[in-house]
Amino acid sequence: MWLPALHAGPGRCMLPRGIREDDGGAVGNMAKIELGSTLRVLEPYPGILAFYDGRIPGVRAWSDAPNWLDDGAFALGCASYAVIDGEEALVYDTHISLAHATLIRRRLEAAGVTRIRVVLSHWHDDHVAGNEVFADCEIIAHRLTLEALLANRAAIESADPPIRPLVLPNRTFEGSLSLEVGRLAVELHPADIHSHDGVVLLVPAHDLLLAGDTLEEPITYVAEPERLEAHLADLARMAGLPFRRILPNHGAEAVIAAGGYGRELITATELYVRRLLLCRAEPDLATRTLRDFAPDIFALPGISYFEPYEAVHAGNVAKVLARAGTVSAA
Ligand SMILES: [Zn+2]
Repeated sequence: MWLPALHAGPGRCMLPRGIREDDGGAVGNMAKIELGSTLRVLEPYPGILAFYDGRIPGVRAWSDAPNWLDDGAFALGCASYAVIDGEEALVYDTHISLAHATLIRRRLEAAGVTRIRVVLSHWHDDHVAGNEVFADCEIIAHRLTLEALLANRAAIESADPPIRPLVLPNRTFEGSLSLEVGRLAVELHPADIHSHDGVVLLVPAHDLLLAGDTLEEPITYVAEPERLEAHLADLARMAGLPFRRILPNHGAEAVIAAGGYGRELITATELYVRRLLLCRAEPDLATRTLRDFAPDIFALPGISYFEPYEAVHAGNVAKVLARAGTVSAA
């Protein structure tokens, strides 16, 4: 979810509860793991696999230095998905590394899949890092995703960790796109939420929405502060799609394993974004911790406080306020 330009930004170093930087070098001693070794494969619905990694206290996957993989994905928890029917699979995002993508591909092939296609939810690092593993497959993305990847290619390929070579989508679409995965119908819909190029995946047979980063639990990550009003409008539009459960790319493993979130995740996101916008007029609101900023969202079913999102929240508030300063100075 992190933009390349923000890799070294404030609030990047999210430490597990109880570990402080002055604890005798505890940060440098945090456990490292081999990339992919902690990947969990969940099956929230028959034929819907979730590849989940991260949210492991005291463990970083890439390095001690602030980086998009650890701080933007692994610390928060990160999932990608596959829709499978018979010998066909549609992979929704290629995960955070080539190692992860390789494990995903092996798992699908072991299940008898012979035709794999990929859909990208949006252009951010933690969703496209494994593309190279699927370079021989059809990689489908919104036209805006291809354009964003092209515009940011140099930054993505030199990020920490680098995504090099960045393998680009080879099929683009605009509007909505209907696909069949085996006998299963799925629909891709653009969703201008979190990122202007967002694409969500509807699986009508399961009343299910794969939401990418348009919905994130407990709070959204603000990547485009100047466009939050547009994101709110598309949240309302997306809520008109027919689904009952939601699987986001960043959320709680247990909830995803149990079938996902209810529509309360949309309510929570709307509440949070509206309150963020209020920070421009109410400075006291901007000083609150996440827990005190939005206690009402944690009263909603399925929405739980998760301490590493305090840093995301602090970054969100800073970006919204910086944007307000830009506007008033203009
Ligand atoms: Zn993300």
